[in-house]
Amino acid sequence: MNATRVLVLNSGSSSVKYQLLDMRDARRLAVGLVERIGEQTSRLRHTCLTTGDVREQSGPIADHDAALKAVADELAKDGIGLDSPELVAIGHRVVHGGMFFTDPTVVDDAVLTEIERLIPVAPLHNPANLTGIRTAMTLRPDLPQVAVFDTAFHTTMPESAARYAIETKVADRHRIRRYGFHGTSHAYVSRATADLLGRRPEEVNVIVLHLGNGASASAVRGGRCVDTSMGLTPLEGLVMGTRSGDMDPAVIFHLQRVGGMSMDEIDTLLNKRSGLFGLCGDNDMREIQRRIDEGDDEARLAFEIYIHRLKKYIGAYYAVLGRVDAVAFTAGVGENAAPVRAASIAGLEGLGLAVDPELNAVRGDRARLISPRDARVAVAVVPTDEEMEIARQTYALVGKGGTDN
Ligand code: ADP
Repeated sequence: MNATRVLVLNSGSSSVKYQLLDMRDARRLAVGLVERIGEQTSRLRHTCLTTGDVREQSGPIADHDAALKAVADELAKDGIGLDSPELVAIGHRVVHGGMFFTDPTVVDDAVLTEIERLIPVAPLHNPANLTGIRTAMTLRPDLPQVAVFDTAFHTTMPESAARYAIETKVADRHRIRRYGFHGTSHAYVSRATADLLGRRPEEVNVIVLHLGNGASASAVRGGRCVDTSMGLTPLEGLVMGTRSGDMDPAVIFHLQRVGGMSMDEIDTLLNKRSGLFGLCGDNDMREIQRRIDEGDDEARLAFEIYIHRLKKYIGAYYAVLGRVDAVAFTAGVGENAAPVRAASIAGLEGLGLAVDPELNAVRGDRARLISPRDARVAVAVVPTDEEMEIARQTYALVGKGGTDN
């Protein structure tokens, strides 16, 4: 029997999201989430997709080790436990892979050390990702653990796009450059967009707009990323739920020298109290939409600032690519917020871009075109699926019937 199952783990500081997939037919067997790890009010929600069973439990889950054991128990109850010979590998989302990791990688001691070395540039994410990997290793030490990096898809960016215009010596010493994030999503969506157009990824140029709570844009030429809006950290680029995105860096000097704020306070301000939230007190686009409908000027201005930035990136990446075949909207806002799609494409007819209002209003969970039939450039809504992409990359690396059991 060929082992074809992959467990995908996305470990945050206090949560673990997981999916068990069978890559024989790219089918999800189970999905779930453990939240508030380390608190008294931890919660596990598990769904078995083969039986439709949904189970929830609450009560303290002390750490990632206990969380993963609880997940293993749930899977075992469904007869798809982690001791199954059909499990071929565990795929892990790792946020920052620096310049070192350009591809999914089987984890060994050297890989763990390198992920650890990147903690200074990803202090919020890499430690949690590492904990997840280490815990999974203790659970199934015999199984390949594969790290799939959010930054990997962007390592094809040319130096002209990846480097900041600061003194090279200083940049190199501190490994300061634009790494980009959400790469797994940008990779998946750019390929799915080519599929939607009935063409091969190598043939098409796509602008991908990943608009979730965090948001980033990328310019993808023939399946390879040539520019992306996030930088050294996920703070750069688009206006996000709680992050400012692009800003004159001198604002930071000013806040410190004139505003008397500490670096940590400024960090928190720009990452957690800015963006849509900072502008109007809400970071959920649904709420902002509702407020706009009620005539709320603050919410409208926040929306307009969000759209203005988005439009600037669409224009910029149009210029970077020279020829654009499709613009793809994805993630929570991109997939669901028709007004965001309409407003960010409005007025771009000169670039061959337009949105058909009727198609744009249709809701759905499949990839679909929303541009008029005769449009020069396709505009699409393409639901992202990072877990499937992690499973696909993991399986491509260690699966393919390689491990007979
Ligand atoms: P992340 O993974 O970055 O947390 P998601 O991709 O899940 O984010 O997107 C979450 C965001 O999507 C929410 O904050 C909300 O603004 C937006 N969103 C979700 N559903 C809708 C909807 N129906 N209409 C408008 N916005 C939505």
